[in-house]
Amino acid sequence: MNKQEKRNVLIIYTGGTIGSMPKDRNDTSSPLVPAPLEEVMKMLPDYNHDSCEIRIENKWVKLGTYSFQNPVDSSNLLVDDWVEVARIIGSNYDNYDGFVVLHGTDILAYTASALSFMLKNLSKPVILTGSQRPIFRTRTDATQNITSAIEIAAAKLLGRTVIPEVCVFFQNEIYRGCRVKKTDASGFKAFHSPNYPPLGVAGQRIRIARDLLRSKTQDELKVNDNLEQRVISIEIFPGMSADLLRSILSIEGLKGVVLKTYGSGNTPTHIEFLETIYKAVQDGLIILDVTQCVSGEVELGLYETSEKLLSQGVITGMDMTSEAALTKLMVILGVENNRQRAEDLMQISLRGEQHESVYHIHFAKGRMKSDERIIKIEQTALMTFGEEQFNMEHLENAILRMAGVRISGDIESGQINLEFFINISDSAAVELSEGNPHYLGRISRVWSQDTGWESVAIPVTEKVKHLVEGEHTNQITIVNRGETAVRWERLNIALYTD
Ligand code: ASP
Repeated sequence: MNKQEKRNVLIIYTGGTIGSMPKDRNDTSSPLVPAPLEEVMKMLPDYNHDSCEIRIENKWVKLGTYSFQNPVDSSNLLVDDWVEVARIIGSNYDNYDGFVVLHGTDILAYTASALSFMLKNLSKPVILTGSQRPIFRTRTDATQNITSAIEIAAAKLLGRTVIPEVCVFFQNEIYRGCRVKKTDASGFKAFHSPNYPPLGVAGQRIRIARDLLRSKTQDELKVNDNLEQRVISIEIFPGMSADLLRSILSIEGLKGVVLKTYGSGNTPTHIEFLETIYKAVQDGLIILDVTQCVSGEVELGLYETSEKLLSQGVITGMDMTSEAALTKLMVILGVENNRQRAEDLMQISLRGEQHESVYHIHFAKGRMKSDERIIKIEQTALMTFGEEQFNMEHLENAILRMAGVRISGDIESGQINLEFFINISDSAAVELSEGNPHYLGRISRVWSQDTGWESVAIPVTEKVKHLVEGEHTNQITIVNRGETAVRWERLNIALYTD
């Protein structure tokens, strides 16, 4: 770092095409390798090397610089390198108004996502950029990308809108960092944010879409720098065998998996496949379903093929990119040891990486014998996550879900007929029927042993608004109107908020 005094923008250089030169400088066809940051900076227009300032619209922006000891092609970056960048931002946070990270494009979407989750309570801009052609070449896109990134990061000095987020600037758009994907290996428009609009556009002027930004927090920056690396991402493909899946999921010490599924979250549903997933979840693995498609979202339960996954205990990644999903899993598993809470946090929007949050009120798993008429099930886990609080005013949709439902006993098939009530204080004293204001709904279906682990869902939005009590005091009462013994693996109320 060159200066300790208060300056405007800190440039952090990790390497990448943006600052690369041919390895043999006399042979332009030799492979590209990153050059020193000093040489990159000298290529910038209106840059005063001695004072380390760049002029933007008649204002001199004071820069600080930090370079990786060995700048690299981003394909060689490791989790430790993300930690280095996050810590540098953390330790220089008070000395700068904004940060620019120069980075190779190949894993830039992962780094942007990782930094988004690692930097909690961010209130200053952190702008990542790279380029498709090195800054030392004709027709380079690097100059425009770096200078625009500096301009966005220097918003405070320039009297512009400050974006309190990790962003990617590329070609002429500003994207939320945890929403981007690299979608073009060669074109200048290399990145897209398929499920969230750009936060701004650079043309003659840089225009920011203020209503799309996250609100600024007054809380102190916290750097989450403990990432769980025992996570993987697997892409389902036609003909993928259960054996292959089993051998991957049984990797020693594995903690979490991002499962890249078809369309809105579907996978094969043959029994070996499902049993493999079920066993992995039972053994403690978190499996998060995201789509292989470039845009759109997972809707577990929309098709039978994804409803089965939900029943095995797979959780939804909604419209997250696979890059955001994997890095969020790393960060969450690094801060939260409790598996249930880690799963719950994964389904809450922490940095605007998904379009809604789902909070769960969990109840115990259980069973009812064929002659058992009524059972009361207590809430098993708190629904509190620090600042990530559930807010009833933001409730859009609530669903009571019983998953992993099976009939038990020797019978081949039977009619399951259950009625659900919430927060009945004294079940003996009230009439438990549809007319009861605490009535949530009913499941009535013929179930066979072959039906296996299905889940059933009842919409309960209006009921929940009035009947959910505290964060840990809810109970469900189930009345068995049939004669079939039934068991379930999971029972919860999922609360979707915008
Ligand atoms: N391989 C390069 C990198 O990721 C590509 C680039 O920067 O455009 O470092």
